[in-house]
Amino acid sequence: MKVYENISLKPYNTFGIDVKARRMVVVEPKDKVPDLDGEVLVIGAGSNMVFTKDFEGTVIIAGARRTVSDADVVTQSRGGAPSPICVTAWAGMVMDDLIQWTLDHRLYGLENLSAIPGTVGASAVQNVGAYGAEAKDFIESVEAYDMVGKRHCTFSNDDCQFAYRDSFFKHHPNRYLILRVTYRLSHEFVPNLGYKALEGLPHDTAQQLREAITEIRWQKLPRPEEHGSAGSFFKNPVVDEKVYRHIKSEHPDMPEAHLSVGGYKLSAGWLIDRAGWKGKTKGRAGVWPKNALVLYNAGGCTGEDVAALAKEIQQDVKQKFGVDLEPEALII
Ligand SMILES: Cc1cc2nc3c(=O)[nH]c(=O)nc-3n(C[C@H](O)[C@H](O)[C@H](O)COP(=O)(O)OP(=O)(O)OC[C@H]3O[C@@H](n4cnc5c(N)ncnc54)[C@H](O)[C@@H]3O)c2cc1C
Repeated sequence: MKVYENISLKPYNTFGIDVKARRMVVVEPKDKVPDLDGEVLVIGAGSNMVFTKDFEGTVIIAGARRTVSDADVVTQSRGGAPSPICVTAWAGMVMDDLIQWTLDHRLYGLENLSAIPGTVGASAVQNVGAYGAEAKDFIESVEAYDMVGKRHCTFSNDDCQFAYRDSFFKHHPNRYLILRVTYRLSHEFVPNLGYKALEGLPHDTAQQLREAITEIRWQKLPRPEEHGSAGSFFKNPVVDEKVYRHIKSEHPDMPEAHLSVGGYKLSAGWLIDRAGWKGKTKGRAGVWPKNALVLYNAGGCTGEDVAALAKEIQQDVKQKFGVDLEPEALII
């Protein structure tokens, strides 16, 4: 275990925002999770966080694994046809590296989640999703340390209460340190091509599909090493049928909404674009020119710049469409 005092969080968030944490504890797979006093913040790779000020408490991190070796992952066959296989990985592992590892070992399922930044642990907190797949479709169980109850616990898929970009862990922030996630995968590659943007992509092998998905993702998103961001900044809002029909009648070119739990899921990116924000910058934060759902660091921005821009967009979309946008990114 490593402990740092007064450490900059700039390398620990993909927005590249420079704030400090009073203390940081990095836990490795064999360490006992220490008891911590005061306010605690769990960080993975900070790919979905916006820091608006210094953090006066303790940041705790499941130590990052930049390369995945066979020793970091445990596989266990579950028998039966077509014989699913469970893969257990350390929470601090880079999720995309784990996905490559699974394909290298002919284990399939996670390929549509390729190139989503962040860690294995956060994949369960966030229920990460892309191109018609979500982490919840594969997560078998989650091992965590309850930092309040001071005990280890295991959550089944049901216990995790997964929903769109949501889970039990999101409703109990900074209480559980996820240590390991077990995914249920398959020996058989069955391409999941239901998502419209995947039409026509090569998919003879899972590796081909992974590479094609990675390529189309980066055509629409800023690469973290070039421009800081947290990916999609807002969730796609769910509205009732009356609101949906009203907006659709005024804007017939609005994309068809997907029927979802609680109503009709609209495209937040389309609403922001139509409100005129795509490509605009405010101070040192901006709206990504190729994808209005993404706010980015236009050069040395602070978390306050990002939060102020987000607030203005929310107010404008509310005024123009009567729709509330909820941030997907965590503003701290
Ligand atoms: C360019 C870009 C593209 C993106 N595209 C997508 C996308 O397509 N789909 C998608 O779903 N997301 C996307 N995201 C968002 C982000 O990748 C995910 O939310 C990811 O899961 C965050 O991982 P992280 O390790 O960085 O978590 P962090 O941002 O560090 O943390 C996220 C949350 O998880 C908690 N957490 C992290 N690790 C642990 C742990 N070990 N134990 C307990 N809690 C923990 C944190 O407290 C926090 O609440 C994108 C982000 C970027 C920058």
